[in-house]
Amino acid sequence: MSSLRTMRPSPFRVLILGGSYGGLSAALNLLDLSQHKDPRCGKKIEETESDNLVRTPNTNIDITIVDERDGFYHLIGSPMAMASESHMEKFWVKYEDIPALQEPNIHVLHGSVQAVDLSTKTATLALHGSTESTPLNYDYLVTATGLRRVWPVVPQSLRRKQYLFEIGDHLRNVQTAKHGVVVVGGGAVGIEMAAELKVLQPETEVTLVHSREHLLSAEPLPEETKITALELLSETGVNVLLSHRLESTVEVKTNDGTSKCVELTFTNGHTMKASEVVMAVSRSTPVTGFLPAEVLDEEGYVKINSDLTFPPGLPNAADHFAVGDVVKWSGIKRCGGAMHMGYLAATNIHQLMTQNAEFMRLDEIPPMIGLAVGNKALSYWPAGGTTTGEDVMQAFFGKDLGFSICWNYLQLGERI
Ligand SMILES: Cc1cc2nc3c(=O)[nH]c(=O)nc-3n(C[C@H](O)[C@H](O)[C@H](O)COP(=O)(O)OP(=O)(O)OC[C@H]3O[C@@H](n4cnc5c(N)ncnc54)[C@H](O)[C@@H]3O)c2cc1C
Repeated sequence: MSSLRTMRPSPFRVLILGGSYGGLSAALNLLDLSQHKDPRCGKKIEETESDNLVRTPNTNIDITIVDERDGFYHLIGSPMAMASESHMEKFWVKYEDIPALQEPNIHVLHGSVQAVDLSTKTATLALHGSTESTPLNYDYLVTATGLRRVWPVVPQSLRRKQYLFEIGDHLRNVQTAKHGVVVVGGGAVGIEMAAELKVLQPETEVTLVHSREHLLSAEPLPEETKITALELLSETGVNVLLSHRLESTVEVKTNDGTSKCVELTFTNGHTMKASEVVMAVSRSTPVTGFLPAEVLDEEGYVKINSDLTFPPGLPNAADHFAVGDVVKWSGIKRCGGAMHMGYLAATNIHQLMTQNAEFMRLDEIPPMIGLAVGNKALSYWPAGGTTTGEDVMQAFFGKDLGFSICWNYLQLGERI
C-alpha cells in the first residue's frame, strides 16, 4: 500500500540521539526499510507481511545522528581495549570511516543534545567546536544516549585521537604495575576487566576484590551462575577476594622510590599493596536530562510503551521513541537488546511514515547474560541455563570481544 505521505516531496526528518548500538541499529534498519530492503537486524519482508507490517518502496527519508563522540566506540570491548593496544585502536571507528553511514540521506553531527521540545519537535544541540546552540527540527525522534559511565569503566574522550592517549596512558600504567593491579568490583565489568588483563598480560599480578560473598551479586541471576563466574575467573589466574569492602587507598613510598604503590585497606582489617587500582564499581545513570521530566522515571530512565514510544498524554508522544540502555524495561542491559530495540523503533517509525497501524512490540526480557572471562565465556538464560566454554566464547564474543559480531550484524562495513 502506498500513500500520499510517502510520496510527499520533502523527506521525513528522523533525528537519532546517540550513535552506538541502539542508535545505529535504528538508523540503518530504517534506511533498509525506506528502500524496500529486508531490515538488517530483523525479519525478512515476506515474513512481516503476514504480520500486516506492509512496506512501501522508497520512502523519502533524511536521517541525522548526533553523538558526543566522533565515532562508534565498541563499549563491550572496553576490558580488552584497556589491556591491549591493537584492540584499543580497532574499537573506536570514526563515523566518517564507517562505510554504511556514507549515504546521501544519513548525516552524522558531532555534538551533544541539550534539550528536546516535544510540542515543537525541536532538539537543541551543542555542536563540537561551536559556542552557540543549534536548533534542529524533526518529524520523528529516537533517543539512544545510553548510560553515563565513569572512567575507567569507559573512556571519557570524545575524539578518537584523545581516546588513544587516554587509554594509552592507562595501558602503560598497568603494563608496568610492579606491585600488581587490583580491580575493585565483582560485577560483569570488573570480572571482564580483571580477566582480560590477566590473559593479555599474564606476568601481571591481578586481584579482583568484591564487597559481597558472590560475584555478580547485584544481578538477578541464579547462584549457580555466580559460582561458575568465580570458577572461571579463578581459572584465568586472577586472585579473587570476596566479602572485602574497600575502606581507603593511600599512596605509599616504595623501597626503590620510583615505582608507584598504593596501600588498600578493607573494612575487615585486611590490607594489601598494588601499583594500580581500577575502580569498576560506579553506578551508571541514564543520559536523559535533556528530556522533559514527565517522560522519565525517578532514576531518569525513559518510560516507554511496548512499541517504544513515549508515554501517552505528552505532546506528539507517538512520534518520539527511545531504545537501548536508556529505557525503563525488564532484563539486564545488553547491546543485543539495544540493537533489537533499534530495529523495532525503525520498523514502527516506518509504519507511521507509511500510515500503517500495526506496530511491533517489545516483549518482556528475562534476565540473561553473556560474560567473557579470559579465553572462555559464560552464558545464562532461563531456557538454556548456565553454560561455559571456549565454544561459548566463540559464539558470543568471537576473538575480539564481540566487535566483529556487532560490526557484521549492523553491516557497518557495507554500503547499502
Ligand atoms: C565494560 C562494559 C562491558 C559490557 N559488556 C557487555 C557484554 O558483554 N554484552 C552485552 O550485551 N552488553 C555489555 N555491556 C552493556 C552494553 O555495552 C550496553 O547495553 C550497550 O552499550 C547499550 O547500547 P546503547 O546504544 O543503548 O547505549 P551506548 O552504547 O551507551 O551508546 C550511547 C551513545 O550516546 C552518545 N551520547 C550520550 N550522551 C549524549 C548526548 N547528550 N548527546 C549526544 N550523544 C550522546 C554516546 O557518546 C554513545 O555513543 C557492557 C557494558 C560495559 C560498560
